[in-house]
Amino acid sequence: MKRIASLAASIATLLVLSANAEEAKVVLVIHGGAAAERSKITPQMEALSRAGLEEAVRAGYAVYRKGGSGLDMVEAAIRRMEDNPVFNAGRGAVFTSAGRNELDSSIMDGRTLKAGAVAGVTIVKNPISAARAVMERSPHVLLVSEGANAFARENGLDIVDPAYFRTEERWKEHLELLEKEKQSAPKPGAPDASKNKSRSAGLSIPSTCEWSTVGAVALDIQGNLAAGTSTGGMSEKRWGRVGDSPIIGAGTYADNETCGVSSTGHGEFFIRYAVAHDIVSLMRYKKLSVQKAVDVVVQQKLKPAGGSGAVIALDRAGHAAASFNSEGLFRAFITADGRVTVKVFDR
Ligand code: ASP
Repeated sequence: MKRIASLAASIATLLVLSANAEEAKVVLVIHGGAAAERSKITPQMEALSRAGLEEAVRAGYAVYRKGGSGLDMVEAAIRRMEDNPVFNAGRGAVFTSAGRNELDSSIMDGRTLKAGAVAGVTIVKNPISAARAVMERSPHVLLVSEGANAFARENGLDIVDPAYFRTEERWKEHLELLEKEKQSAPKPGAPDASKNKSRSAGLSIPSTCEWSTVGAVALDIQGNLAAGTSTGGMSEKRWGRVGDSPIIGAGTYADNETCGVSSTGHGEFFIRYAVAHDIVSLMRYKKLSVQKAVDVVVQQKLKPAGGSGAVIALDRAGHAAASFNSEGLFRAFITADGRVTVKVFDR
């Protein structure tokens, strides 16, 4: 009799433990970009970013509670951040050197490995929804500039005047960066000052560059993973430059068998190192945990190569991971029971 009672007690404990584990499972993790330099982030900026992250993660969670798909969760969270001028995505995007806003985004379904992306769009209010439309309503994966704009229009997405994306803060920053570039242009006979700056494909990377791209990875009630990323790209980009954010395998990847990933940082490196897919491969073939996999890629591969930035990831058991070689990473996650955590500089 005693033994039966103790067995029943053990079973009850196990049930409570597994219910707790179920509740503690992370169902959505999002980021609002890597913070390159802590000293450049004002307390006000940090507070606005934290509030924006919390609002976005809750928007995605509301979808989870209604039984929505991982794709719906990712889209809902990213749309919120695209609409929030604090982030470098949608409204509030950085400017190209020609003074335009050119937006990139991608989304991937971990269940089917279907994906969609747009690059260089200029009139689509929510590029993440355009990326999803490419995935669901076209036979293609990536559409660019005018073609992508036309596709979004034909598919009834919200279309806005390009001026919608402009904020005064970003415009001011753009003018300052233009001025800095002019000042540092080599004068005839003088040593080339630009040699001291970080440059990639002719793109100067100002030291003030705060990435603030956005991304999300979700695990829905059915156990399906999805991931997405959205950005205005890098400040003062030229020549139709496209970064990693709309590149499947670099900025975004999701595979139900392993994890979902969204990246942020110096896109050229993330493309060359196929960052998002590399993380998935380390889990698949080397059987690394999600945290170990993101650390290997961000700390051991990108960092020595000079590729600054960060990733978030979520595995199919609801373990969230983040790794950054920048000073911080704006990020938030929410568990199945609705508890939100927001972090910036703490590892
Ligand atoms: N990765 C983006 C790009 O290179 C920038 C960012 O993450 O903020 O376009």
